[in-house]
Amino acid sequence: MSAPRPTEIVPPTGRLRELLRVAAPVDLGAIDPRSTPGLPGADVTGEHRKAWARDQVRLIGAELGRQQEMLYATAKAAEGLPGPVDGSGTLAASGAAHGPVRRLLLVLQAMDCGGKDGTIKRVAGAMNPLGLHIRSFGPPTAEELRHDFLWRIRRALPPPGYVGIFNRSHYEDVLVARVEGLVPEAAWRARYDEINAFERELAGAGVTLVKVMLHISYAEQGERLLERLDDPRKHWKYNPADVDARSRWDDYQAAYAEALGRCGTDAAPWFVVPADRKWYRDWAVAHLLRETFDTLALGYPAAGFDVARERERLRSGAVGDRRDARGERQVNDR
Ligand code: AMP
Ligand code: MG
Repeated sequence: MSAPRPTEIVPPTGRLRELLRVAAPVDLGAIDPRSTPGLPGADVTGEHRKAWARDQVRLIGAELGRQQEMLYATAKAAEGLPGPVDGSGTLAASGAAHGPVRRLLLVLQAMDCGGKDGTIKRVAGAMNPLGLHIRSFGPPTAEELRHDFLWRIRRALPPPGYVGIFNRSHYEDVLVARVEGLVPEAAWRARYDEINAFERELAGAGVTLVKVMLHISYAEQGERLLERLDDPRKHWKYNPADVDARSRWDDYQAAYAEALGRCGTDAAPWFVVPADRKWYRDWAVAHLLRETFDTLALGYPAAGFDVARERERLRSGAVGDRRDARGERQVNDR
C-alpha cells in the first residue's frame, strides 16, 4: 500500500545543518554512505522511501525557488545587481549602507561518481536559471597556473543576489593536488589557512557558504563506473584516469578528512552527505539549502516608489488607457 502523496514539506527528524555537520577530527570511515540521517520513519514516508523523498525534493525545490527569488529581488532593489557574469573577482558588496547584499554558494565536492552532476540537476534544477551561477572546475589551465590557486575561484564567485554552485572548488587544491603530488607538501599544507582566510573574507562580504561532501563508498563508485562502461550513452562520463584516482582511494579519503577538519569553521561549516542512495542525497542537500535560506530570514524588498501614487497614475488615464479615434477605450486583450 502506498502512502498518500504529501503536499507539504515534511521536516527532517532534526536539523540537517546539525546532523550532517562534521568537526575535527573527521572520521569518514565512521559515516556510513548508505545511511539516511534525519529521514523520517516509515510511518511518515510509507514503504516507498525513494518515491517519498523524490516528491519532497520537488516541494522543497519550489520553496528554494521562492527563497532564491527574494535573494535576487533584494539585490536588484539595492541596485547593485551586476550582469550574470562580471568576472571581476571583486568582493566589493553593493548596497553597503544596508550591509552586504547576500549570496549563497553551494560548494560540492566528491570522489568521481559521487553524484555532483546529479545533485545539481535535481536540486538546482528546481530553481530559476536566471538567478543561478554554476561553475565547474577542472585541471587548471596554463593561465590559471600563472596565478595563485584562489584566482580562478574569485573570478567564479556568484554576484550579489545569486545562488552559486561550485562543481568542485578550491578544495581540489588540497585534495588532488596533495594526493597526486602536484605541489610540494609545504605548499598544500599552507593552503588550509589560506582557504580559511578566504572563506572568512567571503562571509564578511555576504557570501553564505554551504560546503557539502557527497560521501560514497568504494563499492558504490565501482558499480557506478561499471554502469558508465555498460551504457554507451554514458561513455562520455567515463574517464580512464578515474580508475587511477580510485586506486588511491584511501589517500583521497585521508585528504578529504583533513581538509574537512581543518576548514570546517563556524563561518563556513562542512557537511558530509551520505550519497550511496541518490534519493537521500538530493533530499538532504535540498534541506541543507532550505535550512540555510531560513537562517538568512529573507523577505521581498519594499517598493522604492509610492505604490498608491503609481496606481493612481495608471488609473487616471493619463498614462494608462489608449483610446481610439472616437475616444472609446480600447479593450486590453492580453
Ligand atoms: P570532472 O569533475 O569529472 O569533470 O573532473 C574534473 C577533474 O579536474 C577531476 O579529475 C579533478 O580532480 C580535476 N581538477 C579539478 N580541480 C583541480 C585542480 N585544482 N588541480 C588539479 N586537478 C583538478
Ligand atoms: Mg569525473
